[in-house]
Order: sequence, then C-alpha cells, then structure tokens
Amino acid sequence: MRSNELALVGGEPAVTTPHPHEPWPPAPLPGELERLARQRTDDIGIRGNAGPIGELEREFRDHLTPGRTHSIAYNSGTSAMLAAMMAVGVGPGDEVIAPVLTYHAAVSPARALGAGVRFADVELGSRCLDPAAVRAAITPRTRAVVVVHQWGRAAALREILAVAAEHGLAVIEDCSHAHGSRYDGRPVGTWGDVAIFSLQANKAVYAGEGGILVTDDDGIADRAILAGHYRDRARADVRDAGLRAFWESGYGLKLRMSPFNAIVALESLRRFDDLARQRQDALGHLNDALVASSTVVPVEVPDRRDMGAWYGYKPYLSDAGVAVGRDRVVEALRAEGVEVDAPSGRLLARLPLFAADDAPWRAAAGDEPSPMPDEEVAERFPRGCFLEANALSLPTFYRWPDDRGVVEQYLDAFAKVDAHLDRLAAVPAGAAAGARPPAPRDAASHGR
Ligand SMILES: *Cc1c(COP(=O)(O)O)cnc(C)c1O
Repeated sequence: MRSNELALVGGEPAVTTPHPHEPWPPAPLPGELERLARQRTDDIGIRGNAGPIGELEREFRDHLTPGRTHSIAYNSGTSAMLAAMMAVGVGPGDEVIAPVLTYHAAVSPARALGAGVRFADVELGSRCLDPAAVRAAITPRTRAVVVVHQWGRAAALREILAVAAEHGLAVIEDCSHAHGSRYDGRPVGTWGDVAIFSLQANKAVYAGEGGILVTDDDGIADRAILAGHYRDRARADVRDAGLRAFWESGYGLKLRMSPFNAIVALESLRRFDDLARQRQDALGHLNDALVASSTVVPVEVPDRRDMGAWYGYKPYLSDAGVAVGRDRVVEALRAEGVEVDAPSGRLLARLPLFAADDAPWRAAAGDEPSPMPDEEVAERFPRGCFLEANALSLPTFYRWPDDRGVVEQYLDAFAKVDAHLDRLAAVPAGAAAGARPPAPRDAASHGR
C-alpha cells in the first residue's frame, strides 16, 4: 500500500511513471523523413512560394484561420512579428502596447524598428491583456496593440478591438500559444488586422524554426511580403504597383523559411487535430479534477473562449498555497515525482531591452540599462506580478488515454500536498534527499 506521508519527509513518491512526462517532439510521421530526403535532392532553397512553402501557407491558412485571404511563411515567429509590425506601419517614434506577461518576442521586434513599448497588465483569469489597461496605456504615439493569446487562452478580443477601433490602432494577434484556439467560436488569428503564429520547435504546430503571418488586408500582405521576401516572391505577389517597385530589395531584410522547415511544419499540421484533441482530454481531466485542490486554482476556461492546443499548463497557487510559498509547494510536488517549476521568464517590464526609448545598440559599452524599478512594476502590474510569483508550470500532456496513469498520479501528488499543506511550512527547506525529477520541458524552454 502506498504511504500517504509526503515524499518530502520520507514517504513514497506518488508519481512512479518514468521521466520525462512530456517527451517532445513527437516521432516523425510515416513518409516525413523520405520527403525531407527528396527535398535535399530536388531543391535546397526555394525563391518563391513553390513546393512545401506554398503548400504550408495554404494548408495552415485554410485549416487554422479559415476565411483569411493571405498567409506568408517566415523563418521564425519573431520574424513574422517583425513583418506584421512593419506591415501596419510601426516605425521610429511610435509606441506599441503589449501585455506585461508573455514571451518577449511578441513585442521585442518593435524595439528593432525604433518604436517604444508600453506594457499593460493582464487579467488573472485569462492571463491575457486587460482591455481597461490597454485603454489606460494609449498615448498620442500609440500605433498598434499586440494581443497575445497566452498559454492557449484567447484574450478578450471584442473589448480590445473596440478600444483599438475607437483610437484608430492596428491590432496584431500573436497566436504562438494558441494554434486552434477560438474566441466566441471563431478561430484566433481571424480577429485582428493581422496575426502571427510561431512554428518554433515547442509550439503545437512546429517547423523546428518558423513562423507564419495571416491577414485579409491586401496592403498589409503586400508590405509583409516586402518585409521578408525580395525578388521572385515580391515581384509575383505584391499587388500594389507602388509597393511592387521595391521588389528587388524588399525593405532590406530576408526572413524566408527554408523548405525543410516547411516540410516538418506540414507534417505537424497534419497531426495537429489529433494532438489538440488529446491535449484537451488530458489537460481537461487534470484541470477539472484540480478544482478540488486546496493548493492551486485551476485554469479558468470560459465557454466562449475555447482552448485549442493548450500551450503549457499553468495553474496558480490558492491563498493557502501562497501562504506556504511557491518554493515549498514546488519542492513538495517535485519530491512526489511531479515535473513542476515556476514558469520561465520575468515580466517584460523588467527587461533591459525595454528600459529606454533609444535604440539599445547605440548605448555605450559599460552603460548599465535601468529597467523599470521593482516598486513601479508592482504598482502598475499587480496581476502580472501575482502570476509571476505564484503560477506553476506543469507538463502539457498530449497522449490520451496513454497519459491517464501519470495524470492520476499527479492528482494523487496534489492530494497529498493538499492534505499536508499546513505542515509544509514547518518542514525545513531542502529536506528532500535524493534524485529530483527533471523540470518540465517548458520551464527551461521557449516562450512559456
Ligand atoms: C515562441 C513565441 C514567439 C516567437 O517565436 P519564435 O518562432 O521563437 O521566433 C513570439 N511570441 C510568443 C508569445 C511566443 O511564445
């Protein structure tokens, strides 16, 4: 019989499933390696959007953002965001509004374009932009709002779009965490003026490295092409004659996807529905059961904001959990064999990149940047600060029903910590001896 004593003080660990609990990426599909090998022989570079690149653009658009007119592939999500910002006219002297809690690449390209960034706090439930905070962040210099559908949950799009329309701001959706997610039943990526998806190795649709931009707006599409594609593609696809004049050089950058990445992305897109369904089942089961936990608050998933493929699973601590402290809770869960950690990444307002409005590469060597002081961050972004301090990061299980056993063991581990929560504060730090489970895949990884 398994002991109910906390593993932290010598009990049997609740989780006996071997690590890692979220092996990634999934194995290649039948035919995928053969197609990569064939591409190696046929053409190692593609100038237009022929072959796998055009195929990926069409299939991705039709599948994940049905109804959108244009889709353009890039070598990363960061590049796609840079192109989206150029395409809506972000430039020197402008400001862009973005959530304070997300991955930096959602907004860091603005800095490369000479624009400033104003952060807005997030909602506790969705972890996405708070529409009232967006309104408060608007200045005469604001050009665009970047809406990130954080960790797979859609942001409050209707409210944010209304604020943006009132002030004539462009809305760029960053759907890098939210492939397949919906808002009011309609896919994310079909709401704003333009949307981007990262296809980086950890994302639900993965190219290895890659990104894709979608829009209905011909002018945005023309500029987005020129932002990253010159010569053949620009000459063939840019519609506006004035803009097409730039076809030989584009706007100075080359941000094209390689055909090999497009092949990997196509294969991952083909398995996406299956992956998303299994993730919804696995994490839905875990999330529903954690409603009973006294240690954590499960993720809130309102009906009108359908989760697609979750990106990370991040509940936050209950008041009782906060009183014990995240380090203690993480230590106790890890002793049980749970792969758990604090989510990676600080609030963006703390990063040196956003410290000043001048181009950061012009700062003198040895010049220390001075990011926003901690007291100001705490005052301006109370909910972001709460999540930064109190969210947990768990594996994004995606093999269902195969993962049922490990998910049940996780629930046993939480139940043990719930039962001993009062005592936990009194156990000396570092009490657990012996081997620790690895951190969950995402704690050390990209954009989570
Ligand atoms: C991963 C990610 C990006 C950047 O994508 P890359 O493909 O890694 O350049 C941008 N925004 C968010 C929210 C991300 O998670």
